[in-house]
Amino acid sequence: MKKKTICFFLAAGLLLLWLLNQYIQNAYDINLFQYVSYSRGLSAEEREWLSRHGPIIYGADKSTPPLRYQDDENQQYKGIVIDYVNSLSIELGVEIKLRPLVWQDALANLEAGKTDMCDMFPSEQRARKYLFSNSIYNLRGIILKQADDDRLNGLADLAGKKVAAARGDYSVEFLSARVANIDFRYTDDVLTAIQLLHGGAVDAVVGDEPVVSFYAEKLGWKDSLRIVDKPLYEQNVILAVPKTKPQLVAILNKGIFAIKQKSVLEKIQQKWFGISAPILQQQVSKTTFILAAVLSILAMMILFLLYIANEKLKNEVSKRTEELYLSRDDLQKTFDGIPYFMVVFDRDLTIMNVNKAFSLYIGLPAAAITGKNWRELGGLGRDEALQTWILQTFSGRSEQSGELRHGGSVFQVNTFPLLDKERKVIKVVAAIQDVTELRISQKQFLQESKMAAVGQLAAGVAHEIRNPLGLIRSYIYILREEVGREKDNARKAIAVVEDSVERASGIIDNLLAFSRISGDSLERVDVGRLIKNILILEQKILQKQKIAVEYHGSPDVVCVMNQESLKHVLINLIANAIDAMPAGGTLTIRCELREFLHFVVADSGVGIPSEHLDSIFHPFFTTKPPGKGTGLGLYIAYNEVQKLGGEIRVASEPGKGTSFEVMLPLVKESLHEK
Ligand code: ADP
Ligand code: MG
Repeated sequence: MKKKTICFFLAAGLLLLWLLNQYIQNAYDINLFQYVSYSRGLSAEEREWLSRHGPIIYGADKSTPPLRYQDDENQQYKGIVIDYVNSLSIELGVEIKLRPLVWQDALANLEAGKTDMCDMFPSEQRARKYLFSNSIYNLRGIILKQADDDRLNGLADLAGKKVAAARGDYSVEFLSARVANIDFRYTDDVLTAIQLLHGGAVDAVVGDEPVVSFYAEKLGWKDSLRIVDKPLYEQNVILAVPKTKPQLVAILNKGIFAIKQKSVLEKIQQKWFGISAPILQQQVSKTTFILAAVLSILAMMILFLLYIANEKLKNEVSKRTEELYLSRDDLQKTFDGIPYFMVVFDRDLTIMNVNKAFSLYIGLPAAAITGKNWRELGGLGRDEALQTWILQTFSGRSEQSGELRHGGSVFQVNTFPLLDKERKVIKVVAAIQDVTELRISQKQFLQESKMAAVGQLAAGVAHEIRNPLGLIRSYIYILREEVGREKDNARKAIAVVEDSVERASGIIDNLLAFSRISGDSLERVDVGRLIKNILILEQKILQKQKIAVEYHGSPDVVCVMNQESLKHVLINLIANAIDAMPAGGTLTIRCELREFLHFVVADSGVGIPSEHLDSIFHPFFTTKPPGKGTGLGLYIAYNEVQKLGGEIRVASEPGKGTSFEVMLPLVKESLHEK
């Protein structure tokens, strides 16, 4: 802002200076700097130069009235220019000697340095011989012809004509450069040239307007001779000085400037011509200049005001933009802070914006995702249901929601329309939440609480049954004593009853042991016993499905472990194996203790198709009918194994069977006992 203001004022200042310069140029034919330096008058060196030089000699034509000529009566050298030169002499305070000459000689003397100055038109040719001062007056070159000559109306008509002119006159140089084949007749002076024209020896005379008209009038030939309306040229006349005296130019310029300031030329002209002003330079009037200056200043002020208003507007806009940007930034930060995946869609499913959570999930920076089409994204983008919800939100302006499964995860999706002023949907925001864990824990909780209830129930029932079983056992003892040795059949019956009672109480003990909630603690586990107990619980179904059980285990597999976790893994693997053999088969269980606990649960069942192998550990993946499978068994087994720091592997051949292999690291007993 500040810099611009300075620039503006600088420009304004320059404009004013330029205007001033133009004014001075117009009034005095010099620039602003010259004006300043000339106003100071002659310098000490210049004065010294003048006094050393002595009188200045003005040598010019003696027969060009009224500019300069020698009086017929007393041979006095006079004329407009002579008056001017006299004023110059007074102005500069130096003597100027006048030397009337034939024009040709005047030029030659000046070149030779015999005279010091002479007034003339500046030209290229002359510039080679002389130095020029600033302009002193203005002169027109004209053509004089016979009054009845209609063919001559401009300089072009002079081609091929006989034209008289004073020797060395500027008009000759001027015409030679522009018109071809002019047959020039040179005379000593303008008078002789006019006499030639009047006598019919030439077709025209060219020369300076005041001189030509002066003679035409003086000779009384104003009616027989006529000046062509269009002048040849109109030019400033300067003072020429010999090349050897450059100091004189600067001195003369100061004198010329002083004379111009005092309007001396106007007075001289009035003396010679009355009120007409043929030799004054045409000047733009002072009032015009003042008007122009005032208008310029006004325009500048208006410009400045406009500039200030514009600047204010710009500030306001940038302030507002900043505010807008900040509030936008706030919104984007909030958007990014939301833990769900947030995606903003265009009508054709082009992604307009995404939040940080989503870009992390995709693994690309937000800038790389925006602008893409949702379908190009793959993964979630291919989900038909999600696309349908988004499009429905666009068409129906209503929020949509639903749940979808993708890559082992469950997502809760909500879509919201974003409306414009006319309440048209322009964008749709989708909030996508990964609810896998939530759904699992909900299901797990349900299952566990059911199991806990069943366990309690079983415990209650077991106690109820245990008592009558104890009674039965006691009475069998009595019965056996009573029956004695002879009654073989009764003894056999009693033995069977005793056996059954034992088995029933064994199962009940097992059930009680299983339903006991053991928690997260590490304990000493007899893995062989644990497997056997599970098999006892599954005995009925094993028999029903004609499944043979093979157990290969080291005799004493005892280790420190979280019993609850191990139980989960074993129950789930065995249950799945049983489910895989509806038409019978062999369930093989191996168990050994090496540097880790290693066991295998294998079946000869239906096997797992290879395309399912990647999914079986995903939550909710099941191929079983509803009510039968939850799809959580292997997921839980996998997680428990992970928790124990172990590994679970599967190998399966469809139609032949499946084998799950589990390896669990052992906890050092000393650690446990600590
Ligand atoms: P669920 O048993 O409730 O279906 P799981 O997570 O235990 O859930 O098992 C997931 C799926 O893996 C089963 O539905 C089944 O298709 C497959 N599966 C697991 N174990 C076996 C096996 N031993 N033989 C064949 N298929 C199996
Ligand atoms: Mg299962």
